Amino acid sequence: MAEEAGLHVLQIPTPFAVGRVNCYLIEDSPLTLVDVGPNSGKSLDELESGLRDLGHGIEDLELIIVTHQHIDHMGLLEIVSRRSGAEIAALGKLAPYLARFEEDAELEDQRATAVMGKNGVPEDVATALQSVSRSFRAWGGSATVTRPLEDGEMVELEQRRLEVQHRPGHSPSDTCFWDEDRSILLAADHLIAKISSNPLLSRPLDGSAERTRALIDYIGSLKQTRDLPAELVLSGHGEPILDHVPLIDERFNLYQRRAEKIYGLVKGGLSTGYEMSQEIWGNIAVTQAFLTISEVVGHLDLLVEAGFVTEDEDGDLIRYAVTGDAEPDELGDLIPGGNPAREE
Ligand SMILES: [Zn+2]
Repeated sequence: MAEEAGLHVLQIPTPFAVGRVNCYLIEDSPLTLVDVGPNSGKSLDELESGLRDLGHGIEDLELIIVTHQHIDHMGLLEIVSRRSGAEIAALGKLAPYLARFEEDAELEDQRATAVMGKNGVPEDVATALQSVSRSFRAWGGSATVTRPLEDGEMVELEQRRLEVQHRPGHSPSDTCFWDEDRSILLAADHLIAKISSNPLLSRPLDGSAERTRALIDYIGSLKQTRDLPAELVLSGHGEPILDHVPLIDERFNLYQRRAEKIYGLVKGGLSTGYEMSQEIWGNIAVTQAFLTISEVVGHLDLLVEAGFVTEDEDGDLIRYAVTGDAEPDELGDLIPGGNPAREE
């Protein structure tokens, strides 16, 4: 179905645990590449040979579409755009970040360290993670967005129209591209078959607050995607998704169960995000510290929003407490309207 639509997946290696990243070549006019892969010689080699197998070279590319700010997807932008002269289309709000990747990545790391500290992550863990993150930064790169996109606008190619759908959550800049005529959604990391996308507590794109309420944003975005009559969802990693609705419902169930579990931990007397992440995952690798804090705090945001938990600054720490004596299984649907399957 994808191939008939002139869509070809190019699986480009990354240095990350997630494995290869899916970039998509759209054989249309302009000749379009969705995401480029991380900035490394090996990735560039494989991108070139993948394009060559399809009868194209990097020089032939005319438009590059960026799905979000993570380096496994955008690191090669500078090299590929310079060699091809292709336009770079990305969410307008993401353009300043892409223009000065190094500085923004540093700010992002500093905020992540601050968020971890406030949630009780020991300083040595946060500092170690910061240096891991710095060492990965070479896989990123800056680029000039020549075609800033707005949520809801159309990217017009000769044989298709792609609707720009800003769907924050996994990152603040997650952008999907919807081909309504073919019922195909290019979803990048917004929805992945075998991995529940981490809603990372990132810096908001406008730098307005210390962190995003990533899980709440993400659930809102998933609800919008759930409503789409998509027949095929093409992800940034792994296999295509043929049935997105049950997959999204499964994720909503996971968030509900996890929020109930975390509520139980708060009720049992744990007060910091770090204590809770240790209780759930034990002593995890340093590289996982930010992911697990993002998971826990994301679910705490959900509980705070529903009024079951309060969040208070206590000196340098954020502490959580329950507001009443409800049991974890009495919280009701924390994702209202998100999961009709639960009512059956
Ligand atoms: Zn990714």
